[in-house]
Amino acid sequence: MSHLRIESLSKVYVDEYRGENVVALDDISFTIEQGEFVSILGPSGCGKTTILNIVAGFIEPSGGRILLGDKPIGGPGPDRGVVFQSFALFPWKTILGNVRFGPKMAKRSRSEQDRVAREFIELVGLTGFEDRYPHELSGGMQQRVGVARVLANDPQLMLMDEPFASVDAQTRMKLQEDLIKVWEERHPTIMLITHDIEEAVFLSDRVIVLTSHPGRLNRDMRIDLPRPRQWANLVRDTRFSEITHEIMGLIMQGSGNADAEQEQEAVGEASP
Ligand code: ADP
Ligand code: MG
Repeated sequence: MSHLRIESLSKVYVDEYRGENVVALDDISFTIEQGEFVSILGPSGCGKTTILNIVAGFIEPSGGRILLGDKPIGGPGPDRGVVFQSFALFPWKTILGNVRFGPKMAKRSRSEQDRVAREFIELVGLTGFEDRYPHELSGGMQQRVGVARVLANDPQLMLMDEPFASVDAQTRMKLQEDLIKVWEERHPTIMLITHDIEEAVFLSDRVIVLTSHPGRLNRDMRIDLPRPRQWANLVRDTRFSEITHEIMGLIMQGSGNADAEQEQEAVGEASP
């Protein structure tokens, strides 16, 4: 039995302003196994956040069903932890307070809360910053806190929506390496959303490529690169560039057709 099973998922938004329906997701099915790292990859607007929001239980699908273990997903729950792009830390709590929040909600003893929080703060390399407040930390450090906070809840499924999109390129690569180190140590089940091909390939066991308008599943690819993975090795790895090029081709095909058609029309109009 798969850990997460998504069956024929669809989502139609009603755009009240324009008075029309937007088909965001059309008949998406895939599974994620226990301890697997899977990325959902596609261009902006293809429905990635919609998938995450449905799996998190924040919004309802229009069709299909989702099982976590053997249970259908209803609303949000502590069995799923979400790391947002915008960090979403409590600004009035210290780093320790932020990471301790989950264990506290789970009504663990005060000493347990502290032990768990400090363990995960150490895991993401922030020991020494326990008593700081989020605004005193860089974006990259805040996102480490975001990761530690989710892990401290011991979720069955970790959901990440473009978690490194708002930090600079060097910090992003460092955070990706740190995340993969944490994953290789603990093997949490992760579904990560991204539009960054190299990020998806670097991190994942599998990459699920979506096409846009409506969001459909284009390809479910197993990434057979050896682990542990480090950027210093992968940037020169021929298999890594083969895979990223293959995916780029898939995405260009998916989104390029519309542009090509428009160009064709423009050319047609211009010529006598
Ligand atoms: P992504 O995360 O891949 O950029 P989203 O899941 O945010 O894509 O959006 C997918 C599509 O659904 C887009 O066309 C977007 O404009 C549309 N959409 C998202 N949320 C809503 C909403 N609440 N109402 C109407 N349309 C929406
Ligand atoms: Mg999004």
